[in-house]
Amino acid sequence: MKKEINLILKSDYVSKYEDGYPLLLKEVLVDFDKVTQEGTIVNLFTSKKKFVAKAYYGLQNKGFGWILSTDPSESIDITYFTTKIKTALSHRKSFYADDSTTAFRVFNGEGDGVGGFTIDYFSGYYMITWYSMGIYEFREAILEAFKSCVDYKGIYQKKRFDSKGMYLDEADDFVSGQRAPEPLIVKENGANFAIYLDDGAMVGVFLDQKEVRKTIRDKYAKEKTVLNTFSYTGAFSVFAALGGAKSTTSVDLAKRSLPKTAEQFEVNDIDVDTQEIIVEDVFNYFKYAVRKKLLFDMVILDPPSFARSKKHTFSASKDYVNLLKEAIQITSKGGIIVASTNSANFSMMTFRDFIKRAFKELKGNHKVQEKFSLPKDFRVNPKFKEGDYLKVVFIRKL
Ligand code: SAH
Repeated sequence: MKKEINLILKSDYVSKYEDGYPLLLKEVLVDFDKVTQEGTIVNLFTSKKKFVAKAYYGLQNKGFGWILSTDPSESIDITYFTTKIKTALSHRKSFYADDSTTAFRVFNGEGDGVGGFTIDYFSGYYMITWYSMGIYEFREAILEAFKSCVDYKGIYQKKRFDSKGMYLDEADDFVSGQRAPEPLIVKENGANFAIYLDDGAMVGVFLDQKEVRKTIRDKYAKEKTVLNTFSYTGAFSVFAALGGAKSTTSVDLAKRSLPKTAEQFEVNDIDVDTQEIIVEDVFNYFKYAVRKKLLFDMVILDPPSFARSKKHTFSASKDYVNLLKEAIQITSKGGIIVASTNSANFSMMTFRDFIKRAFKELKGNHKVQEKFSLPKDFRVNPKFKEGDYLKVVFIRKL
């Protein structure tokens, strides 16, 4: 049995939780310090002892845990998780049916009714990511529920506990079934990706950008020179090359990005020698490109929300305008800037303002061609807007 505790919600917040807000915050609770053990079930009551909701305590970013149910008699057990997972799977039927894409998200935390963990599908294998010690306390019930709902070759996990979302390095991320080949080749809209399920914090590709990659390949890349900054394993470059780009240049600070990007080209039968892969701080690269008077037809910006390199600290909410200004200077007239951010700290409206400001400060004009947010497999809880973190804008420089 899990530990349970009854706590009082401060009156100002009762209606917020009655209305379905899923994230438990410290400041909404009277006596929050009575809960000490992650994984504890917290029953929330009004000061008049009316039941509002049931949550679990798990520290994650700014959250204190997630709401699990508004039914006081519901037990948080295998049956509970089975219902949630079955519903989640029913929303991904079209993804399972599509042979051209074999990697997608099947359970998206609070978007699928339980915050704190996600499950991704990779061609027969599954990756569960745990975002707090609190949800990890439920792992046995969740795993058992999950196994009863799907056919799987193997199951892996990543723990990203501490409050900064850091990956806890585990010797082995393998959980159950058979081990995946390394690399495991998955498909996304017909292209290949080399995936490593047990090789550090990340597996090789961010699944939330699939619509953006497809759009670059199908509508924008043909005959274009493409600069992909913060390129990681070069997924955008691969799609640009597949779409007939004249050249791709991928820039990332991490040394591993070079062999990793080369590999993603190779598994798509693209000659790596025809593509440029550069290990460098993008801010240095921008300076170099300006000095050399380089211009690109398409510049892709997909920085992390926050990053510190030797010379720079980059924070998307503070520095995106400057990043855009750097990019605008090396984009040809009529060219496209793909501006992307996964920062949950600001809205699409603010992001549009950043773009307007950058062009205004350089006395330039632009036109927004199209916008993207999370794809359908990354289900979002309508009562939790922060969960809809992805913002991508295709901007034409006029
Ligand atoms: N655009 C990628 C994902 C980017 S992840 C994709 O589509 O897959 C963020 C990447 O930014 C990481 O690979 C990290 O190494 C890189 N990075 C962070 N700061 C950087 C900097 N100053 N210059 C270059 N790369 C940087």
